[in-house]
Amino acid sequence: MASQTRKAECRRIAEELETFFNKGLLALKPGLKLSPDQDPINRPAFREYLEAVKEVLIAHEDYRRAIRQRLEEEKLLELRERFEKAVQRLNSLPTVVGYFDLHVVPELRKATKDELKAGKASKEYPFLLNPMRLTLQHEIVAIRAASDELVEKFGDKFVAEEVGIQIERFKRALALCGEEFPLGVCRYKHCGRIFVKKRMKQLFCTPNHASAARVQRFRERKRSKEV
Ligand SMILES: [Zn+2]
Repeated sequence: MASQTRKAECRRIAEELETFFNKGLLALKPGLKLSPDQDPINRPAFREYLEAVKEVLIAHEDYRRAIRQRLEEEKLLELRERFEKAVQRLNSLPTVVGYFDLHVVPELRKATKDELKAGKASKEYPFLLNPMRLTLQHEIVAIRAASDELVEKFGDKFVAEEVGIQIERFKRALALCGEEFPLGVCRYKHCGRIFVKKRMKQLFCTPNHASAARVQRFRERKRSKEV
């Protein structure tokens, strides 16, 4: 893929993931008839995934930054190990069991009353694949089949599949985009929000949080000098 196209694609995925991680399914798919308590972000299980994602992003960024700054070998190794551990932790969380490997995104449509009656879709999951509307995409998308473990964790097949898909997208985007993946975790201690970066070196979600962190660092340094 040409670098410009990839950059645009990486940005698009980052923007969608930012919405999902911060606002959940209802913001990502406004047409969905879900009650807020069906949204994964309102479930305790989601926090575990979010923390694992954040740890990967932070460890990735720190490692890349250390390479740019040409830190000593020992420090680089340590940061690389931390990144690998974070990836392992994320990989250990159950997601989906298979992938569409065709670079297409199958669109879902709501099942009709007749199709529901015929048992083609269930009341809990009233969606069917729409084979007439396959959209070409520059990414491989996880199949809608969450592992049983994930369904159990979230207590709902649809929600579990959405979480599984977004987590798989995150992993794939990170592998595809690497340093060009403009997703970050705000480094201000009291924030920690996932955000889309305007500049790749950006460490804080807003200028406000950059200056709040600066003030905090200043205070901490002053305190450590006083003791
Ligand atoms: Zn922030």
